Amino acid sequence: ATPTSIMVGTGRAAELGVLFRKGDALQQLSGVSVVALDKTGTVTAGRPELTDLVLAEGFDRAEVLALVAAVEARSEHPIAEAIVRAAGGSLAEAGAFTSFTGYGVRARVAGHEVLVGADRLMAREGVEIAPLAGEEARLAAAGRTALYAAIDGRIAAVIAVSDPVKPSSAEAIAALHGMGLQVAMITGDKLETAEAIAREVGIDRVIAGVLPEGKVAALDDLRGEGGLAFVGDGINDAPALAHADVGIAIGTGTDVAIESADVVLMSGDLRGVVNAVAVSRAVMRNIR
Ligand code: ADP
Ligand code: MG
Repeated sequence: ATPTSIMVGTGRAAELGVLFRKGDALQQLSGVSVVALDKTGTVTAGRPELTDLVLAEGFDRAEVLALVAAVEARSEHPIAEAIVRAAGGSLAEAGAFTSFTGYGVRARVAGHEVLVGADRLMAREGVEIAPLAGEEARLAAAGRTALYAAIDGRIAAVIAVSDPVKPSSAEAIAALHGMGLQVAMITGDKLETAEAIAREVGIDRVIAGVLPEGKVAALDDLRGEGGLAFVGDGINDAPALAHADVGIAIGTGTDVAIESADVVLMSGDLRGVVNAVAVSRAVMRNIR
């Protein structure tokens, strides 16, 4: 591409709210065949709300919620914020807090050992989840993120949060399909939850249960012949944004994501990806 056409192309893109941070990206994006999306905050709004709390025999709702929220008050995960908001009011102090990235959290509250997180955390800590596994499966199939809470080593509750998809996600994904692109989603969430969300917005392929450090390897599994773009917003998306042929950051995302990306979308949604691809193709068509 000539410097002039790239300049015109990046200018046109900027008018559409798409910032190409490197001229190269304009060229590379035109040749991409797969667009991989982060789930939380990219496909979904990224502001989950607590929707369900199902108790195991012998546990009290207010007590369990208070203990769990006290632990989550120490975490910065969007799931944690949803639980703290739902609990409301003042919370007990949590000590000996540990966060297991991609698994969940643990702390001591009011003399109790409290563990909150995914089934894989409970498995690792030897907590028997059988009494609530059916509830968890039902909630995950509905597209909610279901977590287990254990108190003093005993399963106490399943807690679900729901993070609705952005209103524009389905329309943008349909437009990407119309451009002949494959659309995939990568998430640390469970497969059942991820598949329900993928169905809702028309995503072709899902890679779920991915630990943050596994996102880069997941991209290599998805890479098509024409190259791959990754769209994300979070701190934990930075390595994937840097690794993809074209990293696209949602402008409302974290600074770390924006700095790692080749392209930044001013809008907070996926229609910016459609505009970015359209501009890149138009520029490259004019040059060839
Ligand atoms: P994603 O970025 O796709 O949401 P994460 O790697 O952040 O994935 O989290 C993966 C899973 O780990 C979550 O779906 C949840 O089950 C569990 N988890 C992570 N952080 C917390 C937390 N603060 N409280 C409870 N569970 C958590
Ligand atoms: Mg995200």
